[in-house]
Amino acid sequence: MSKRDDPDLETLAWQSLAVRGGIHRTPEGEHSEPIFTTSSYVFDSAEHAAARFAGDEPGNVYSRYTNPTVRSFEERLAALEGAEACVATASGMSAILSTCMALLKAGDHVICSRDVFGTTRTLFAKYLANFGVEVTFVPLLPLSGWRDALRENTRLLYLETPSNPLCEVADLRAMANIAGNGGALLVVDNCFCTPALQRPLDFGADVVIHSATKFLDGQGRCVGGAVLGSAQLMDEVTGFLRSCGPTMSAFNAWVFLKGLETLSLRMTAHSAAALELATWLESQVGVEQVFYAGLDTHPGHGLAAQQQSAFGGVLSFRVRGGREEAWRVIDATRLMSLTANLGDAKTTIVHPATTTHSRISAQERQEAGITDNLIRVAVGLEDVNDLKADLARGLALLD
Ligand SMILES: *Cc1c(COP(=O)(O)O)cnc(C)c1O
Repeated sequence: MSKRDDPDLETLAWQSLAVRGGIHRTPEGEHSEPIFTTSSYVFDSAEHAAARFAGDEPGNVYSRYTNPTVRSFEERLAALEGAEACVATASGMSAILSTCMALLKAGDHVICSRDVFGTTRTLFAKYLANFGVEVTFVPLLPLSGWRDALRENTRLLYLETPSNPLCEVADLRAMANIAGNGGALLVVDNCFCTPALQRPLDFGADVVIHSATKFLDGQGRCVGGAVLGSAQLMDEVTGFLRSCGPTMSAFNAWVFLKGLETLSLRMTAHSAAALELATWLESQVGVEQVFYAGLDTHPGHGLAAQQQSAFGGVLSFRVRGGREEAWRVIDATRLMSLTANLGDAKTTIVHPATTTHSRISAQERQEAGITDNLIRVAVGLEDVNDLKADLARGLALLD
């Protein structure tokens, strides 16, 4: 390998790492990263095989354990999050499950934000509870609720910031202190910001979770996830993956590896368009309230400006009226995709109360602010004027 294949990564800036991190060029001299679609690996001799299996010699044995394309993705994402280690997983949910299975045992207590991705709630409330893990859900804010919920056996605090869909912002440094003082780990799902906008480990979080399905891919092609943190914690998570199997495929790792190269450019564009759309929405007669941390009217604005480099691509707003009016605005769109997914080049629009948040009770929805007149938009990469026109059509029906 020539020196050109092995740049001194320590000296490189973030965007250079996004393009150059985790490259292990083969003797073929390929420029783009190869996809290693192989389940197993061959050895030179019986002795060689024995050494690999014993771990005396580093190298690949089987792709549930290690795969070179997956390793490239893990190394690149670790560099971008400022993490010692990264473990790629089959999906965002399996990243969360693997973290829990590796770090928790029966009798442990978890505090989870009420304002997390719906399936995350199900994972904690139903499946972990079945295995004797106690879970308390608290509103993301105020943070004193977390302190009050701490117990002797609290092992893990779990949150997303900014929250979905109301963009509430939690102080990561304060949360890391609450967790640390309680002898617990702080786990942050960084799916909405990505390391292009926010690096929770820099503020003292212990573990970062990703659904790579969203902005890391950025074009809605693959399902995948990742867990990041100290080498010690990630060894535990790796152990779970090797024995239980929710690993990432080489092809998906390659798609995400390519996604990381343009991540920062995309997040900047998503954020700029979302801010412009949120500002425009605030001036519309048919709109009652807009939720986007980039607006200085948003209570989380100052904090988000400190711990994020931009405000991200997801916003929500309440129309004047109720469910009927919200549906009318959604149904009048022609450009935006009506889907619950987000983090795509294509803008998506959804009615949270009857889709993403339909499985929680009406009272829980009320408490969480998921009213019937709320609409969420995950701003893509189209021209923002076309997005305004798409929403204007429906809003005009309300005036
Ligand atoms: C989508 C999502 C997940 C789950 O990820 P999958 O890749 O769909 O399994 C977890 N957290 C957040 C915030 C998400 O948006």
